[in-house]
Amino acid sequence: MSAYVAPKILSGYGAAAALKELPGRVLAVSMDIPWRVFQESIPWEPSQLHLVPDMDLATVEQADAALPPCDVVVGIGGGSCCDTAKYLAWKRGCRLVLVPTIVSVDAPLTNMIAVRVDKKVQYVGDLFPEELIIDYGLIQKAPKEMNRAGACDIASIHTALHDWKLAHEETGEAYHPDVAQLARECLEELDRNAHEVFEVTPKGIDTIVDLFRREVEFCARIGTSRPEEGAEHIVAYGMEHLTRRHFLHGDLVGLGIFVISRLQQNDPDFSAGLIRRCGLRYSVPDAGAEEIRACLRTLRQFKQDAGLFYSIVDTEDITEDFIGETLDALYK
Ligand SMILES: [Zn+2]
Repeated sequence: MSAYVAPKILSGYGAAAALKELPGRVLAVSMDIPWRVFQESIPWEPSQLHLVPDMDLATVEQADAALPPCDVVVGIGGGSCCDTAKYLAWKRGCRLVLVPTIVSVDAPLTNMIAVRVDKKVQYVGDLFPEELIIDYGLIQKAPKEMNRAGACDIASIHTALHDWKLAHEETGEAYHPDVAQLARECLEELDRNAHEVFEVTPKGIDTIVDLFRREVEFCARIGTSRPEEGAEHIVAYGMEHLTRRHFLHGDLVGLGIFVISRLQQNDPDFSAGLIRRCGLRYSVPDAGAEEIRACLRTLRQFKQDAGLFYSIVDTEDITEDFIGETLDALYK
């Protein structure tokens, strides 16, 4: 993996107008909705526009082969737009500028590119984005719940740290107390700014971007996402596997944090309060109670079949009583 590179971040209302000054042949990568929203605020004609159809590896490879040469790739949109732009800039070895129009995922900050092969996520590539434009006006045009969703991968530190420590104690997995402390500080920062995140204010947007940046940095340093990825993510992956549907990541990870902090007996009132104040839709409006029940009943089996990391799911039985009480609390 290449060494971590800190991004230069240009932020402000109308900050994306800086794109007009880019020299050379500019390839813009976007999707219908973000491109329309972008053009309404900042009319701009890049040399070439590519609209992303999906994130299949074959699709991004085809785009790279079919698109003309360029000097700079600009990604405008959510995770798929940023990831496709990253892929093209990585393959072509050219300059990359990312303009996220929602802050729901950390794709604008990471070096990895999430693609799908046979409907399964795989990570390819290795390029830390060096230039980021955070245009508050653009981001505030997206539905609030999509931006609030970004808080999930910071709030997940609460349950992930517990699992990381557990794995260290039970299996001898490497553990870094200094990094755990940095992660804890990120969680506290989110807690202090939860209201700003809920309201999607400039301060709330900056908080999410800055916490993603810090998280990506220390996870890259130790070569694992353990500080922010614990059993709450197993719940999220389990729900997707069981239903074969796509959800807002923040909804599923929010549910995971709610459930797993109870299973861990790890201050569940704090974590439920935090995700509620950030506006995560942790009761998952797009899933039914029976689907959640089925996911929890089969969680350990799913984890074993998928070969996922060690966590509270290995050591604590998920009983019918636990599931009943948890669902009652979830819908209260
Ligand atoms: Zn996540």
